[in-house]
Parts: sequence; C-alpha cells; structure tokens
Amino acid sequence: MKFCSSCGAPVSQKIPPGDNVLRFVCEHCQAIHYHNPKIVAGCIPEWGDDILLCRRAIEPRLGFWTFPAGFMEIGESTEEAAARETKEEAQADVEIVSLYAVLSMPHIGQVYMVFRGRLTAPEFGAGSESLEVRLFPRHAIPWEEMAFPVVANALRRYVKDAEEGRFSLHLGSVGDRMPE
Ligand code: ZN
Repeated sequence: MKFCSSCGAPVSQKIPPGDNVLRFVCEHCQAIHYHNPKIVAGCIPEWGDDILLCRRAIEPRLGFWTFPAGFMEIGESTEEAAARETKEEAQADVEIVSLYAVLSMPHIGQVYMVFRGRLTAPEFGAGSESLEVRLFPRHAIPWEEMAFPVVANALRRYVKDAEEGRFSLHLGSVGDRMPE
C-alpha cells in the first residue's frame, strides 16, 4: 500500500500504540489500514462416488485442476459463496452437505473453507474460468496436475475419508509446497 484510501496522502509502516504488528498508517489523517486474511470458499461437488473438478482457464496455474473455489463476496455466507463458485466455474448446482475443511495459509493470508456439495443433477460445463469440467472417480484424480497445494491437501484428506466411509471436519495449515 502506498496511499491512504481515505484521504489519498502517502502512508508509512509503523506499529500503532497498543498494537504489536506493523501497519500502514496515513501520515495525514492518521487512519490505520489493517490488512487481514481473506476467506476463499471452495466446494467438492459429489455425484455418487465421483467428484467434479475444473481445469483452470486462467492464470495462475492455467491448465491445472482444482475444485471450484474463490474469494467470498460481501453480502454472502461461506456456503453461498461455495455454491456460487460451483455455478460460475462448473455451471453446476449443488446442495451444500457440510463444511469439510478449514485450511489456513498463513504465508499468503488466506483461509480456505471447503464444503462438500451434492450435485442436484449430473449436469455441468466449463464456465468462463474453466477449460474443462469433469467427474473423476477417486482413483483417477489427476494428482500430478493439481493447481495448488491447498487443493491437493484437501482432496488427499477427502479421498482418505471417503475410502474409510467416514467424513470428519478437518483443520490444518498448508504451506506453498505440494503434499507428497
Ligand atoms: Zn489518510
């Protein structure tokens, strides 16, 4: 951040009184600009034992696979955001089943909230951000072509749970490396 979003004057980094973190502070109006993590809502859409994945049509990681996910908008709940992203990226309608995983990424200030969603019909297609959308059996998930470590992390957990026939809520932190 270079300029104050309230008054347009330059900002500098300092630790405000009573705080312990460097913040952008306006040199003119003294406004403190907090920069906090963003929530990404994701959905693992299910049809029977298969899951729906999208091949990205946009950078970063164009051509790699992910489940539908994106930043929440103001005015919607996390589960609404997950269903909206599924509609936008995979042209599919889901009923949200449950929250599945909350995965923090401290290094980039994001939190993924991943839901399980049940497709209301086996109808889907590539939205503008997807090259291709496909149902995958669990044994055929393209692990070598995962878009992001957090996606691979969530899906590894999901597949293990599905094979054990028991889904639980997962909490974890994910770095910038793909899981083994
Ligand atoms: Zn200002």
